[in-house]
Amino acid sequence: MLELKDRIALVTGAAGGIGFEIAKAFAEAGAKVVLSDLLVKEGTEASERLNAENLETHFIKHDVTNENEWVDVISEISDLFGGLDILVNNAGIIIQKPLNETSLEEWRRVMAVNLDSVFLGTKIASQEIMKRSANSPISGSIINMSSVAGIVGIANNSSYNASKGAVRLLTKSNAMEFSDPSINIRVNSIHPGGINTNMIKNIINTSIKETGATEDEVRSQLEQGHPMQRLGIPEEVAKVALFLASTDSSYMTGSEVVVDGGYTAS
Ligand code: NAD
Repeated sequence: MLELKDRIALVTGAAGGIGFEIAKAFAEAGAKVVLSDLLVKEGTEASERLNAENLETHFIKHDVTNENEWVDVISEISDLFGGLDILVNNAGIIIQKPLNETSLEEWRRVMAVNLDSVFLGTKIASQEIMKRSANSPISGSIINMSSVAGIVGIANNSSYNASKGAVRLLTKSNAMEFSDPSINIRVNSIHPGGINTNMIKNIINTSIKETGATEDEVRSQLEQGHPMQRLGIPEEVAKVALFLASTDSSYMTGSEVVVDGGYTAS
């Protein structure tokens, strides 16, 4: 079994969905895990649910677009657990609109949450991670949640496509920079296909409004868009994140791992 004993991790956007399942998988593997999110009630309850199962987690309110909050969150984790080894840049949003109907404000919001956050998080957290990873036999690990939308184009998704494509290459750039043994942090990206979370519910609701189709019709169309003819579940992404966080992926950096039921295979 993959394990993260004595490792300390931060997962952003962990109040629910994929982020929560990653936090759970990490904690079950023995890590001390900080869940962060904008949503205080949901995030606190999520952490309490895990702690009730004898896992060691803590929730911190965190807007990933805010540089000062990143500094405070990393410093709080260091005070709480004595360092940081793993960062999962998971928080993200989607605004689905034709390019011509997307305002500059909407474009910038998607870029701020999906891309600026990865830049800020990597910049600030890596300084804490390298205190433990530099010249150590065990690398630090940064995992960036991109998407199949970071690999292939999807209509009415320009801001999301652009942000996730940028996360893909920011990952590779940072992997090049942080591979030096004096830093020793591996940086990889995950590219999920459709995963059953609130984000997919929002995508379905947008489509219902636009097309007048029923929920079943929209869901079925989404499922059929994946060769495996189903959506994924958050646990299926969390298992890959756990692998990338663990020493079992010790020679992987700059890689892009698809978890997409075959969506990008053709
Ligand atoms: P979700 O909406 O269930 O979870 C996203 C979380 O991010 C929420 O808890 C939300 O509160 C949080 N968040 C949003 N803005 C934030 C901010 N400024 N600061 C801190 N937290 C913030 O969605 P999910 O499906 O679990 O998505 C997780 C990640 O996976 C996202 O990056 C998303 O783009 C990516 N992804 C999802 C899918 C999918 O089909 N669900 C597919 C590919 C990639």
